[in-house]
Amino acid sequence: PLSLSDTVEAHRICVCVRKRPLNNKEVTKKDIDVVSIPGNGTLLLHEPKQKVDLTKYLDNQVFHFDYSFDESSTNDLVYRFTAKPLVQTIFDGGMATCFAYGQTGSGKTHTMGGDFSGKSQNSAKGIYAMAAQDVFALLKQRRYSSLDLCPYVTFFEIYNSKVFDLLNKKAKLRVLEDEKQQVQVVGLQEMYVSCAEDVIKMIEMGSACRTSGQTSANANSSRSHAILQVILRRRNQVHGKFSLVDLAGNERGIDVRSSNRQTLVETAEINRSLLALKECIRSLGMDSHHIPFRMSKLTQVLRDSFIGENSRTCMIAMVSPGMSSCDSTVNTLRYADRVK
Ligand code: ADP
Ligand code: MG
Repeated sequence: PLSLSDTVEAHRICVCVRKRPLNNKEVTKKDIDVVSIPGNGTLLLHEPKQKVDLTKYLDNQVFHFDYSFDESSTNDLVYRFTAKPLVQTIFDGGMATCFAYGQTGSGKTHTMGGDFSGKSQNSAKGIYAMAAQDVFALLKQRRYSSLDLCPYVTFFEIYNSKVFDLLNKKAKLRVLEDEKQQVQVVGLQEMYVSCAEDVIKMIEMGSACRTSGQTSANANSSRSHAILQVILRRRNQVHGKFSLVDLAGNERGIDVRSSNRQTLVETAEINRSLLALKECIRSLGMDSHHIPFRMSKLTQVLRDSFIGENSRTCMIAMVSPGMSSCDSTVNTLRYADRVK
């Protein structure tokens, strides 16, 4: 069983895995569940070598992470062990970052709470909103009220190395780096928020903007990274920043012959940014002085997250349970294993 006291011990990089339930489509297709979570932090993958007699060809692989969440886990539970312990960091003047990683359909947006379609009210039940609620709870505490911290929100998307503002009609924005290597997204809307409900409104607005309008700018939201930031400012200076990132799908299984040029460019770009992300998180863990943040737009705009004594990162690797997703699941687990 999970124990919250485990999270008090502050490690700078936390890597977890979350398995979603088999969905109706998978059940109908008689897909087989090949992922099990036998204990806290452990994941067992029954990778079939052949798609015949499973019992005969099982090749079990065990992976270890800080936490592993099975299909019965709620967003609330996942939040408590992943992003929640990072909220304090931004009050202490640090940078906190939480990544949702995995193939398309594995549950990244569900976990973050960015699946607002205009009908459902899922935004309030994801990590974005729960983090916002905790930020406002801490802001009310006496020890922080004297700091005069002001909370702001930004919400933007990176698609094919280009930045689009989800709080401003997907305006295309430029990224500049000054001589001190400070990175700035020029013209990014930073909205003042006075309560958690304000943040939820921004999440809904931005999520609707993300998925709406199949413009040439972005036809498919699973091919872009979405970044929600809660920024605490003190006398206009950034005091702390919490970046919550719904990453682009990491699937590689795209047929080179049948794909058009656009898809190939997209895929290459996603691979490049996810590779850069892995390198940057690893250098954070090793206290390295060389952080290769210029390797991609994603890591460039998140540069602040990879520097400083006070930076903390959490990655939630999402996996689909089905045998049909096995290749992607192996890729996801190997990636997460390299980051920790
Ligand atoms: P991704 O953002 O990784 O592409 P989604 O979050 O959109 O994936 O999830 C795909 C589908 O699976 C959605 O319909 C979502 O509601 C559902 N889903 C994902 N994770 C879970 C879960 N843990 N429990 C129940 N349904 C889930
Ligand atoms: Mg998604």
